[in-house]
Amino acid sequence: MPNKGQKPGKGTYMCTECGAEQTLRKDTDVLEQCGCEGMEFKKKGERKQTVGSAKK
Ligand SMILES: [Zn+2]
Repeated sequence: MPNKGQKPGKGTYMCTECGAEQTLRKDTDVLEQCGCEGMEFKKKGERKQTVGSAKK
């Protein structure tokens, strides 16, 4: 499970504490500490997301 300060790669990560999401757009982006001070994140499935306008 990725923690803050890590670079887990592109994708959307959800705070395990509050569920807030962070999206990393580059493989070099770093996960930041969540506003709730949560430090653990789990990666969301990228394919099944229907947030906004999903492209095919
Ligand atoms: Zn949080």
